[in-house]
Amino acid sequence: MKTALVLGAGGFIGSHLVKRLKAEGLFVRGADLKHPEFGASAADEFIIGDLREQDVVRTVYDRRFDEVYQLAADMGGAGYIFTGEHDADIMHNSASINLNIADAANKLGVGALFYSSSACMYPAYNQLDPGNPNCEESSAYPAEPDSEYGWEKLFSERLYLSYARNYGMKVHIARYHNIFGPEGTWQGGKEKAPAAVCRKIAMTQSGGDVEVWGDGLQTRSFLYIDECVEGTLRLTRSDKTGPYNIGSDEMVTISGLVDMVSDVAAKPVGKRFVPGPTGVRGRNSDNRLIEAELGWRPSEPLRDGLAKTYAWIEAQVLAQDKV
Ligand code: NAD
Repeated sequence: MKTALVLGAGGFIGSHLVKRLKAEGLFVRGADLKHPEFGASAADEFIIGDLREQDVVRTVYDRRFDEVYQLAADMGGAGYIFTGEHDADIMHNSASINLNIADAANKLGVGALFYSSSACMYPAYNQLDPGNPNCEESSAYPAEPDSEYGWEKLFSERLYLSYARNYGMKVHIARYHNIFGPEGTWQGGKEKAPAAVCRKIAMTQSGGDVEVWGDGLQTRSFLYIDECVEGTLRLTRSDKTGPYNIGSDEMVTISGLVDMVSDVAAKPVGKRFVPGPTGVRGRNSDNRLIEAELGWRPSEPLRDGLAKTYAWIEAQVLAQDKV
């Protein structure tokens, strides 16, 4: 039986990935600081532990695995990453995890190791024009991410690439662009824009106002979780290392995102623009390289993913109201 280790299995992407790996019949061990927030993990074994600690990593990574997915990171939405208040924790925590995992994989063996980097590692100077951001894989250097979160991702990409070069480790790196979907964080400050907008609209009466950070003209693209998992598996099971973007190239303004959710919810709303941490001015996934080299690119329209996500978040809001 093929074996997989999913680090960060209690998180949003990790818990969806575990479900898919189980559906495919793999033996799956998950590890995280916490269990998944919205339902039991599908993993065969789930170890609660802090992957910054080498002792914990020795328990979690105690044998060779066919596939290792390294998703554990100290992360969050714009409200967590861009205020500057969490920089030291973000750098220290995520780098410690990656240093430990790279070392364990090298010592105990791995068939294929997947690492989840982020579009946040792209240089800020290429993302000033909201209409025309450049996130081509080759544009990463000279590096100038706009957050310490992005710098840590860049460091860890290089860490895993070094192990590939020096020790022949089979490494596969994706740069995820804004993944969203049901069972993602939707409140509390670590939620991403699609979840925040769905929550705000679900909590507002028809005709009410929702708050939007910045002027709403900043652009982004958002990828539905099932497509993220599909791309992750295709990359990990290929002979390609990357880094590759895994993201959608259907770019929208944040204001346009609000309009789309409002439409999906059949609830007209007004927008109130307020100061807030907005990140780079424009960002979009460039999918040319992954399509050329893996023969795959995500294709689901944003609206379809938003409809599924809005339905789930609305149900969470209603359930909370009843408590
Ligand atoms: P998430 O926060 O839901 O999951 C990350 C998990 O890592 C959490 O469950 C957390 O508890 C766990 N973790 C953190 N510190 C840990 C520690 N010391 N020991 C053990 N576990 C620890 O995030 P996600 O959205 O599922 O993202 C997964 C990965 O993908 C992350 O590496 C993230 O940086 C990357 N990524 C995500 C997105 C996105 O839009 N969701 C975009 C770019 C990159």
